[in-house]
Parts: sequence; structure tokens; C-alpha cells
Amino acid sequence: MAGDVDLDAEAEEERKRQERISEAETEFEKLQAGRRELPMFKYREELLEAIAAHQIIVIVGETGSGKTTQIPQYLHEAGYSKAGKIGCTQPRRVAAMSVAARVAQEVGCKVGHEVGYSIRFEDCSSDKTVIKYMTDGMCLRELLGEPDLASYSVMMIDEAHERTLHTDVLFGLVKDIARFRPDIKLLISSATLDAQKFSDYFDSAPIFNIPGRRYPVDILYSKAPEANYLEAAVVTTLMIHTREPPGDVLIFLTGQEEIEAAEELLKQRTRGMGSKIGELIIAPIYANLPSDLQARIFETTPVGARKVVLATNIAETSLTIDGIKYVIDPGFCKQNSYSPKTGMESLIVTPVSKASAMQRAGRAGRTSPGKCYRLYTLHSFQTELEDNTIPEIQRTNLGNVVLMLKSLGISDLMNFDFMDPPPTETLFRALEQLYALGALNDHGELTKLGRRMAEFPLDPMLAKMVIASGEMECSEEIATVCAMLGVGNAIFYTPKDKKVHAENAHKAFHRGNVGDHLALLSVYNGYKENGSSSSWCYENFVQQRSMKRADDIRDQIVGLMDRTEVPLVSNLGDHDRIKKAIAAGFFYNTANLQKNGGYRTVKNPQTVHIHPSSGMAEVMPRWVMYFELVLTTKEFMRTVSDINPKWLVEIAPHYYSAKEVEDLAARKMPKNMGKAADA
Ligand code: ADP
Ligand code: MG
Repeated sequence: MAGDVDLDAEAEEERKRQERISEAETEFEKLQAGRRELPMFKYREELLEAIAAHQIIVIVGETGSGKTTQIPQYLHEAGYSKAGKIGCTQPRRVAAMSVAARVAQEVGCKVGHEVGYSIRFEDCSSDKTVIKYMTDGMCLRELLGEPDLASYSVMMIDEAHERTLHTDVLFGLVKDIARFRPDIKLLISSATLDAQKFSDYFDSAPIFNIPGRRYPVDILYSKAPEANYLEAAVVTTLMIHTREPPGDVLIFLTGQEEIEAAEELLKQRTRGMGSKIGELIIAPIYANLPSDLQARIFETTPVGARKVVLATNIAETSLTIDGIKYVIDPGFCKQNSYSPKTGMESLIVTPVSKASAMQRAGRAGRTSPGKCYRLYTLHSFQTELEDNTIPEIQRTNLGNVVLMLKSLGISDLMNFDFMDPPPTETLFRALEQLYALGALNDHGELTKLGRRMAEFPLDPMLAKMVIASGEMECSEEIATVCAMLGVGNAIFYTPKDKKVHAENAHKAFHRGNVGDHLALLSVYNGYKENGSSSSWCYENFVQQRSMKRADDIRDQIVGLMDRTEVPLVSNLGDHDRIKKAIAAGFFYNTANLQKNGGYRTVKNPQTVHIHPSSGMAEVMPRWVMYFELVLTTKEFMRTVSDINPKWLVEIAPHYYSAKEVEDLAARKMPKNMGKAADA
């Protein structure tokens, strides 16, 4: 990469840097010494001057130069926090938490005091907080209560290059705020050099460049395409471990499952090698990992050992791990895509862009020259990878964002100042869905119901379900269902050696073929009735930390129900009532059984299947509603319950005609199919 660096001189510099840091006596002083060695530090005064002189600045700097952790501190030290909080947005919740923890250490306070963070369902900030990290989604939420960001003196939109949906929407909103609040400072920071686009968008805001340190990275390609990149990544790791000089390894994988599989494989293989090799420390990092385990990726590797970090995209630019010398890049990430035509949302493993691949490789050259093993061919890199990742706003469902924008009083979405506008059909679909849910009226204006729905940091369908449950007198149960859905699919676990036990335990929750939603309810109730005990979780093969999270989320939802005047009522015995309340939000997501054993979605027809993890997979009811559609090997419905089609006409008469439902229900089915919950 960078051809003409003087490696010896650079290495000497790095050695001196480390020496200066280790000379400090206390941990706190070491941290302060470390801060002074970051590339950012040399530009401290210059940056503060630029910020004083301009309202909006675009800041560009190599990952790891100190943008996220240092700039808010500089501003605090320079007195900006006297006029209001210093906010900093992050696309990922793990990054917001981890960075806040680090900055709290550097400032010398507890997280939640002067330095805090706010992520969905978890606010770790207080009246004392002056430096606040938050997800970009939470910043949008804060705007609902404080449309001019009045309590902030500075807002830093960090990791702007990631172009997440929420970051893109924030761009448009903060640009507007800057016009009528001349006292607020906006910083747009990005890790890529393509900052001109940001500058152009923000009325030619000046670009502040922070030259980073960067060592050359040797890029090695696979000679032929890899049939199994997980296996290839493991083999490459072991090859590095046995043959290459010291230095830690970073592997980019697509998600928790893959990371766990790789961890298992690495453990197996190294066990077989016994004491012939040095210790291999395996440190995973992904969104659902408990934070104490997340901190492990930052621990210094002991001499003689080697650390392997198994990470998702989060380590691409959001988190910097010191000591990485080898990067293994299989070339994939999980990306959502959305078809406004079918309403199908999917999280698919997709090839990364060239820009991403470059960022990944760069992680190997932060403190010394490094190597990047690309597990694909040079030819694939050149011909198959896109230059840049498509901004999320162009490939996702906009229901939630449109609801938020509407409640911020932005009526004309077609003319909203998007940096890259979403496809018109996607906007249209979101409006149509909100209309069907009753959140918008005939004129596209927010209804009273819509205003209440916007109070919930939830997908509009979930928000509608929660509000409807008040009238349907089962809101206690729906709060639970909603919280359990919010945890995602990390509730059950099935260890390989106890597969049968685990499956039987899980089946017990589905007894009576109640459907997945009610099964989730019964998991939660079982957990609570048994004193939230870890032994109950253990016996039932349920993840305790997911249950703790469900408990937290539930508390928040109940709090919001209180605020929006949704009465808390319980009606445990009445399953139909609970399912009806779910259908009040999810009538949009229904499908009915076909003769060939597949399902067809009722609106925008397409063929789908019940996910094998569902308790309904073998029951195959004639009518079902589902929480989400995922495209993996097939188009699967995940979290499925049977419904009575008559409910659809009852709940959503504007959306389903009695005739349409009757016609579908009247079709003849082969004898043994679709018996459950028939009309
Ligand atoms: P940038 O935002 O420019 O990518 P950061 O401010 O995130 O850079 O990182 C600056 C330095 O702080 C890096 O050397 C990184 O290793 C360190 N750092 C950041 N977060 C943590 C953490 N949670 N624990 C330990 N070190 C961290
Ligand atoms: Mg950063």
C-alpha cells in the first residue's frame, strides 16, 4: 500500500511512543499519556480554532486516530459543555457503550456521570452528563422531544461514512437546525477520504483532515474461490499462528452464529495441537455479547500468546483494537435489503464493497506493517465487488422513520433534503402501511393514534399492537410479547451434545400448538414464576441474559404505555384475545396455506414458508401471521402464529374485505392439511 514509508524510523517512533506511555506511573496517567500520543492530539488547537470559526465542519481521519474518543473531550475541556451537552452519535449500540466506557475512564468518572450513553431501551446518562454518546436512532428519538436539540451545544455525527438510515435522516434534520440555531456546532466525522460529498451537502462546510499513521499492509488473495470461507478463515488463522511473527489476528465474520461456529472450530483444532503451539486467545465481539465479555477484545495480549478477534463489521471502523497485525477478510457482511413491491425485508450475507475491503485491510497496519488475507481472488475483488456500499436508506423499510418524520412535522417527504433520496416506491409503501395501520389519515397527516405510535421506539406494527392491546384488555401479555420479540432470536439455545433434551424443553413451551408468540409469553412467564433463576434457564435451555434483556425492555415498554395512556390489563387465559391484539398490528403480515404445502402472503402475493425453528413448522395452520420475513435459503416467515381469518375483517375492515377473506377460506384443501384454527 503506502510504498515509501521509512519503516525503521516509523518503528522507532512507535517504540518511543509506547515507552512514553509506559513511563507514566498510575493507570490514569498512562491513559493521559496515551491520549497525547494519538494522531489527533497534534491537531487539537487547530481543530478547536476551526470549530470556533465555523458552524459546521467535516472531519476526516483514519480509524483509530482518536476522533470519537478525543474530540468530545477536547470540546469539553475547551468549555463547550458550559453552554450545553456535547453529543456524539454512533451507528452501533456496542460502539456507543464501549466508547463511553473508554472516555469515562479517560475523564476519570463513572459511566453515566459526566460521560454517558443512550441506546434503545437503555439510558445510561444523568443530569451530570456533559459528554453523551448515543446511537443515531436515539438521537432521532431525542429530536422528537427536543426538535432544536436545545440542551446540546455540539452534535457530532460520527461514522458518517457508514451512511446508516438514521444517520442519513439526521443529516437532513441537523442541517435544518443549524439554520435557526447559529450557536450550535455540528461536526460530521468520517473515516473515508470521500468527504467532499458531505461538505457539498452541508453548504460547502470546510473539511478538516487528520493525517493518520499507517503502515504498509501486504494484501494476499486466495488463488481459487473458497468453497467454505469459515473453514478457510480457521485454517488461515492456524497457519498465521504457527508460522508468522507475533501480532494479533482480526477475522471479519457476518454475525453471531458464524462467530460462535468459528470459535468452536478454533478451539477444537488447537486442542489437537496441544502444547506445540503458543496460547491462542479467542475474543469474539458482536452486538448481543454481554459487555463484560466485549471488553476482552481490548485486553493486552501476554507475551508468547496471540489474540484472535472474531468480529462483525463493527471492527471495520467503529472500534479500534490495538495490536492487530493480521486481518482475515472473507469478503462478506450481513446487509439488509428491502423490496417495496413485496414488503420483503431480508438480512442477507452479501459481498462487501471495495471501500469496505480497504478499510478492513487498513486495520492490519495501525501500529506496524501487517498482512491482510483476502479469502477471495484478485479477480473477484476487481470484477465482483461494488466500489461503495449502497446507503441503507435505499435498501430498507422506512415505516419507522416516516412515522418519526411525520411527527416532527415534516409533511412533504418527497421533498425532504436527503443526501441520497430513498426509492419513491419505498417511501410510498411506508406511507401506505402507516395509513393501513391508522397512523395517517386520507391526507397523509398524522392521526392521534399515529402520534401515540411515534412515542414508542418500535416498528409501527409493534407500536400499533401495543396500543391496541389496551383496548383489547391484554396489554400485560402484549408488553411481554413485544419485549420478547425485541430480544431477537437469541432466546433459546441448543447445545450440540444435548440436542434432544433442549428440543424437548423448547417444545414444552409450544404445548397445545399455541403459536410462537404465545410460546414466547410462556417462556417469560415461566422465567418470572421461577424467580428469574439461572437454574430454570439452564434446565429449559433458555439464555438467561436474553431474559434479563427482555425484562429491561418490558419495563421500558410498560413505562411508555403509562405515558401514552395505554391501560395495563391482564387476560392470561384468553389466547384468542392476545392473538387478536397481535393481529391488530400484524394484519399486514399474513399468509395462507397452499395445496403444495407452501404459503402465500395474502397481500402482495408471494410464496413463503414457515421457518423450521418455528413451533408451527409442522402444524401448518391454514392462516398465519408472522413477525418477519427473512430470506435465507428460502423465503421464511419467522415467529408465526395461527389466526382466524375472520379477525382480519374485524380488525382491519379498510384493508381486508369480507369477500376476499371468504373466497380464500372457501378453497378446498387436501384432507390432512391446514386443520388448525380453521374458520
Ligand atoms: P477513531 O474514532 O478516530 O477511529 P477512537 O477515538 O475510537 O478513534 O480510538 C482512539 C484510540 O482509543 C484507539 O487507539 C483505540 O484503541 C482506543 N480505544 C477506543 N475505545 C476503546 C476501548 N473501549 N477500550 C480500549 N481502548 C479503546
Ligand atoms: Mg470512531
